[in-house]
Amino acid sequence: MKILLIEDDRLLGDGIAAGIAQSGLVVDWVLDGQQADTALATGTYDAVVLDLGLPGLSGMELLRRARASGKSLPILILTARDAVEDRVAGLDAGADDYLVKPFDLTELQARLRALLRRSKGHADPVISQGELQVDPVSHSVFWSGKSVDLSAREFAILHTLLLNAGRVMSKAQIEEQLYGWGEEIESNAIEVFVHHLRRKLSPQLIRTIRGVGYMIEKTTP
Ligand code: CA
Repeated sequence: MKILLIEDDRLLGDGIAAGIAQSGLVVDWVLDGQQADTALATGTYDAVVLDLGLPGLSGMELLRRARASGKSLPILILTARDAVEDRVAGLDAGADDYLVKPFDLTELQARLRALLRRSKGHADPVISQGELQVDPVSHSVFWSGKSVDLSAREFAILHTLLLNAGRVMSKAQIEEQLYGWGEEIESNAIEVFVHHLRRKLSPQLIRTIRGVGYMIEKTTP
């Protein structure tokens, strides 16, 4: 899954970007309001981490624009200490959550997990699907109760397909979830990862929808 980080402080942004990547998410980082506006308009993201104090366009203005244009993705705002009014105004303008600087990276990671899970319609942090159990916190995967080792990319594909169970995801959509700007994508990488997942879990788990993409069926518990 892919996060857009909008933060003009290089040192802080560096730390946050590393923290997001560490939790298995892909991050695109922009440093000013104008770049952020373009990224929001043209990219596909699962959530946004938005600093309110930005050069170019303010964080509040970005928030209003995103919601006015119908974007429903979760947005977590970063505000300065003692800025109660900012937090209230941000939440009222459509933000879903906030963190007050300075904050602990583990808290940001946990809040992002919660926002992503909720936005995909899951309340339980462990995703169960038939024989499969996936825990996004510990990155552990079980099939029929047995632990299965997956690489970071394999885990990311499985997690994405599971959160979108019942929906077909195109190769391009999956690639976008897996790679940040400027990262080299090998042409058959997704096919290879899906092949590994089928081998490690079950040949039937991931369906190929010819000419469209891949899908995990939605099973009713
Ligand atoms: Ca700032």
